[in-house]
Amino acid sequence: METVNGKDMGKKQQLVIGIIIALDILAVILCIVIVINFRRQAVYEADSGKIFTMGTEARVKVLADSRQTAQNCIKAAAEQFNLIEKIFSDRRSDSEISAVNREAFKGPMKVSRQVYQLIKTSVGFSELSGGAFDITVGPLVDLWRQAGDANRMPSDEQIKEACAKVGFKKLILDDTDTTVRFAAEGMRLDFGGIAKGYAVDLAAEAMKSSGAKSGMVDIGGNIRCFGKPPKGKEDWVIGLQNPDLKSPQQVIMMLKLDDKSVATSGNYQRFVIIGGKHFSHIIDPRTGQTVEGLASVTIITEQATDADALSTAATVLGLEKGKKLIEQIPLTDAIFITEGPEYKIIKTSGIEKLEK
Ligand code: AMP
Ligand code: MG
Repeated sequence: METVNGKDMGKKQQLVIGIIIALDILAVILCIVIVINFRRQAVYEADSGKIFTMGTEARVKVLADSRQTAQNCIKAAAEQFNLIEKIFSDRRSDSEISAVNREAFKGPMKVSRQVYQLIKTSVGFSELSGGAFDITVGPLVDLWRQAGDANRMPSDEQIKEACAKVGFKKLILDDTDTTVRFAAEGMRLDFGGIAKGYAVDLAAEAMKSSGAKSGMVDIGGNIRCFGKPPKGKEDWVIGLQNPDLKSPQQVIMMLKLDDKSVATSGNYQRFVIIGGKHFSHIIDPRTGQTVEGLASVTIITEQATDADALSTAATVLGLEKGKKLIEQIPLTDAIFITEGPEYKIIKTSGIEKLEK
C-alpha cells in the first residue's frame, strides 16, 4: 500500500505552482512576440490624391512599414515630378530644354545627365520605329497647334519648311562630353511623347529608395505598379478607358499590372480642330501630317518610359506595322482600338493573360 507523506505533498504543490508560473511567463512572452510581429507586419497605405504636374493630373499610392515612410515616399515621388517638369517642359522658358532649343544650333551644348540620358533613349526609339517616334518633332507640333488656333490648315509649303527642321539624324550627340547640337536652324525638342513615362519610372525608383514596399505611380495615364498590391487584393488592376467620346468614362477592359507599366496614346483626349474636323496631336515626323486610323494604343511593358514612347510610336506606325513592332519586343504587349464608329479592339498575344 502506498502512503503519501507531508513532504511529498509539499514537493507536488511546489511543482504545480512552478508549472503555473512558467506557463504565465510563456504566455507573456508569446503576447510580446505577437505584438512585435504584428507591428513588424503592419502596412501603412497612403494616397497622394490629385497632383498637378506636367500639364496633367498625377497620383501616387504607396504601402510602407510606417505612416512616416509612406508619406516620405509620396514626397519623394512628387519631387521627381517637379524636377522632370522643371527640366523638360518646353513651355517654361527657364527649363533646360528651352535653353537647348534656343542655343543648340549655335554650337555644342553641354546638358545634364538626365537630359542626355533621355535624348539617347528617345533616339533609340526613333531607330527602333524607323523614325515614327521622334523628339525633334517640335516644329511640326508648333505648326499644327498654330493651325488649330487660327482654324486654318497648314499649307504644303509650311509643312515642308517644318519638316526640314525635323529628324533625329539632325541631332549631333557627343557621349563623352554629353553635348547636343542641332544640324538645322529652328530645330526644337519636344519630350511630350516620353517625359511622363520617364518621370513615372524615376518616381517609382525614388519611392523604393525611400522605403516603399509597393506602390503605384500615375501621370496622366502613364502608370507603373510595383510590389504586392494593397491588402486583400490579388493584383494591381487598372481599367482601360473607352476612346469613344460619347462614353469616355466607360471602362472597356481590366488589366492586371503587377510590376508592370502601362501607357495609352489617345487621339480622343488631345487634338486640334480645324474646320470642325479633329486632327490628332500626334504627328508623323516623316510626312508632317497628323496621324489617323487609331483611336488609342495602349502598351504594357516593364518600364513606363518604354510604354510611353512605344504608345506614341505605334500610333504613328498604325495598326499593322505598330502591331508587328510590338510583337517583336519581349515582354511587351499592346491593345489597339481603331477609330469610330467601329472602335474595333485588336490585341497582341500576351494580353489575354493580363486581362482580369
Ligand atoms: P503621347 O500622348 O505620349 O502619345 O504623346 C503625344 C505628344 O508627343 C504630343 O502632344 C507631342 O508633344 C509629342 N509628339 C507628337 N508626335 C510625336 C512623334 N511622332 N514622336 C514623338 N513625340 C511626338
Ligand atoms: Mg507617349
